[in-house]
Amino acid sequence: MAQAFPKKPASPPNAVTVAYTEKTPTVQSYLPEIFKGLGVSMSHFFRNTRDMLTGERPDPVTERLDDGITTIQYPEQKRPYPQRFRGVHRLTTRDDGSPRCVACLCCSTACPAQCIFIEAGEYPEGDKRRGYERFPVRFVIDELRCIFCGYCVEACPCDAIRMDTGIHPVPYDSRDQFIYAKSDLMGLAARDGSHETANPRHEPGDPTHPGIDREHGH
Ligand code: SF4
Ligand code: SF4
Repeated sequence: MAQAFPKKPASPPNAVTVAYTEKTPTVQSYLPEIFKGLGVSMSHFFRNTRDMLTGERPDPVTERLDDGITTIQYPEQKRPYPQRFRGVHRLTTRDDGSPRCVACLCCSTACPAQCIFIEAGEYPEGDKRRGYERFPVRFVIDELRCIFCGYCVEACPCDAIRMDTGIHPVPYDSRDQFIYAKSDLMGLAARDGSHETANPRHEPGDPTHPGIDREHGH
């Protein structure tokens, strides 16, 4: 048996009627909109050229946001980055040049892109840090997989990993060049040129050290 076609429901009393543009050949050809767009582009072009010739063009680095299209001559000109800009990672060091990293794996655990690989090692017999903490035998970051979320920096309990180099990932031509090894990461400095961290360090044997070591339990 044939089914009755459902009736169109009545429009609610507060319905708004939408007016559509009539589909004339002119509208369908998109030509008016194309010329309108070209007009906007050309007006920006002439305004920027005039400003440049009269010396009124704003500083391209700080960029005027309210009107005009301001371009910069990258890489000769670069925009200043805010203090919190996340550049390529670096590993901070202690006074003796050793990594502050204790290979706790907090950063690699927190990393959503899983692009940090750490192989932990023990300090040798006789080293005052043996049994007290570990160090990274290998510490590798795949900068190509990194999404620059900064979770690794937040997770680190030792301020051992930072993203304050101010360096963009460099446009290399092969994938393995994006794999930053421990020596690369320890060789990079912060934007101010320092390699160390702002946080003080309490080494075993220092008066400020809590005295926890292999013999005294941890
Ligand atoms: S910034 Fe994010 S994605 Fe990149 S290494 Fe750190 S945790 Fe992983
Ligand atoms: S960088 Fe920090 S969080 Fe990552 S393993 Fe080293 S100490 Fe732990």
